[in-house]
Amino acid sequence: MAKISIRDEKCKGCSMCINVCPKACIELSKTHRNRKGYMTAQFVKPESCIGCAMCATMCPDCCITVEK
Ligand code: SF4
Ligand code: SF4
Repeated sequence: MAKISIRDEKCKGCSMCINVCPKACIELSKTHRNRKGYMTAQFVKPESCIGCAMCATMCPDCCITVEK
């Protein structure tokens, strides 16, 4: 099964990875802020991830790594 890692401290909560994921695997946290004060992206549906890497490609800050 594919999985992604999100570097929380680099994330600025822009939602671009969320909007592009075809399986809705990523959501913006409603409770957690990183040290910069951003609500960050969370990998919430790992069972649905197909490893397409659209999220990693889209992230402007290179926060996401995909493992297959
Ligand atoms: S690799 Fe593809 S399916 Fe998996 S979280 Fe990223 S965009 Fe979604
Ligand atoms: S695209 Fe990158 S910076 Fe934007 S919410 Fe996703 S992981 Fe965070």
